[in-house]
Amino acid sequence: MRPFAFKRAAAPADAVKFVAANRDARFIAGGTNLVDLIKEGVDSPNELVDISRLPLSTVRSMPGGGITIGALAKNTDTANHPIVRKDFPLLTQAILAGASPQIRNMATNGGNLMQRTRCHYFYDLATPCNKRQPGSGCAAKDGLNRYSAIFGWSDSCVAVHPSDMCVALAALDAMVNVQGMDGKTRTIKFTDFHRLPEASPEKDNTLAHGELIVSIDVPKNNFAANSYYLKVRDRASYAFALVSVAAALHVERGTIRSARLALGGVAHKPWRAAAAESFLAGKRAEIGVFQQAAELAVKDAKPLSENGYKVKLAQRAVAKALGRAANL
Ligand SMILES: Cc1cc2nc3c(=O)[nH]c(=O)nc-3n(C[C@H](O)[C@H](O)[C@H](O)COP(=O)(O)OP(=O)(O)OC[C@H]3O[C@@H](n4cnc5c(N)ncnc54)[C@H](O)[C@@H]3O)c2cc1C
Repeated sequence: MRPFAFKRAAAPADAVKFVAANRDARFIAGGTNLVDLIKEGVDSPNELVDISRLPLSTVRSMPGGGITIGALAKNTDTANHPIVRKDFPLLTQAILAGASPQIRNMATNGGNLMQRTRCHYFYDLATPCNKRQPGSGCAAKDGLNRYSAIFGWSDSCVAVHPSDMCVALAALDAMVNVQGMDGKTRTIKFTDFHRLPEASPEKDNTLAHGELIVSIDVPKNNFAANSYYLKVRDRASYAFALVSVAAALHVERGTIRSARLALGGVAHKPWRAAAAESFLAGKRAEIGVFQQAAELAVKDAKPLSENGYKVKLAQRAVAKALGRAANL
């Protein structure tokens, strides 16, 4: 393992300054992903900047509704916060579907957004991986790709984003607030935060090196009574999603006023099913409608040699999640 310097940031601006000044520096929050990556030799920073004591762990209501969640709030505390449980139960369900209680007690929200893919080849230093080593190739595309993407992949990379929390945040139209070198905060739409691999899969998201996530805003919505997070995995717990679905409906007297649908485990970023969302608006909340929406949600899927099963799985998961959201 490469030796590294360790600094503790006293303020967000210091953290940004330290990391922005050194390409090989990384923020460390809960450490539940970064430490593994270092131990496996996938990442080898020469400097770690500890941000875990920065005052960015508050979860509070925003004026006019909605909620703002500190980047350093633990996943457990976020999921169990009374406002999140009451007004954003989709987020609670998604966070609690991830990892284990012990990991969620350490893991932070910012770290969850920034966690890296679980593609086996990314972790296997003996094989090519454009995400780990740009230009080396993608061993997964024609290799063991059972866990890989069915949407939005490129010849360079077929990896999927592993987060559960992010799927709910994508469905809920969250916004990510980040602080940069100029001390100013900019806001990124959640759906623009993670990116598709295209020709540069080494970049998971649109954050510049050294930019610090300070908080995540989730706007007020009408989905609390009718939302559901469904995660399908190889084991009943402590496993990443093969496919997951965040479904949220605003239903009035049996009619869907608006719908949000995001899928996890299927692309390099949480995948919004826009065509299915538009189809659902104005329809009755009933099983036949949900089945049609589910067909639309997977219409453009492009499976690889070993993950064709994900198309049918995603379709059924969407229909089931919508049904659960509608309490059917
Ligand atoms: C065995 C295991 C199983 C898991 N299962 C699941 C699962 O089923 N579902 C799921 O969603 N997740 C799962 N996870 C992932 C877990 O949720 C993440 O490891 C965790 O959320 C990362 O948070 P952290 O604070 O520990 O991040 P760290 O490990 O400290 O950091 C991760 C990355 O984020 C960067 N970073 C951290 N905070 C910030 C910030 N504020 N601004 C900018 N960059 C930042 C770091 O520089 C680093 O690159 C699992 C993890 C493990 C180890």
